[in-house]
Amino acid sequence: MQNVLISACLLGVDCKYNGSNNKLDDEIINSLKEKYNLIPVCPEIMGGMSTPRNPVEIKDGKVFDYDGIEYTEEFEKGSIEVLKLANVFNATIAILKENSPSCGSNYIYDGSFNHQKIQGMGITARKLAKENIKLVSEENVKILL
Ligand code: SF4
Repeated sequence: MQNVLISACLLGVDCKYNGSNNKLDDEIINSLKEKYNLIPVCPEIMGGMSTPRNPVEIKDGKVFDYDGIEYTEEFEKGSIEVLKLANVFNATIAILKENSPSCGSNYIYDGSFNHQKIQGMGITARKLAKENIKLVSEENVKILL
């Protein structure tokens, strides 16, 4: 079975910044599990962030919370750790949570903390895409079923 990375919060792991998750419908998770070996990853936790944590956004390629504290280093580290797992497991597909400053593959928030989305990629999504890993947003996950 093909190995596929997936944002851990999409499987129900409470690793989201506010201590909750973004769990997909059980039906979708079960269908994915029938076809793929799912490898859960949370780049923010893997980069050393705690849960819960302040929400962050990307501005000019750097990561800040609303107090202006920078976390770019942690987010970069998390992306490197996720890439390591992609290589170890020979995963060529990653199912990633849209809009996240780590996992967003099409849209992220604009850095103003005003709930404005823009086209863009999270730090880990960008890292994986550069290595030719196919990114699938949870909004389009049915294309894999
Ligand atoms: S970093 Fe990715 S996996 Fe972790 S909580 Fe955020 S969206 Fe989910």
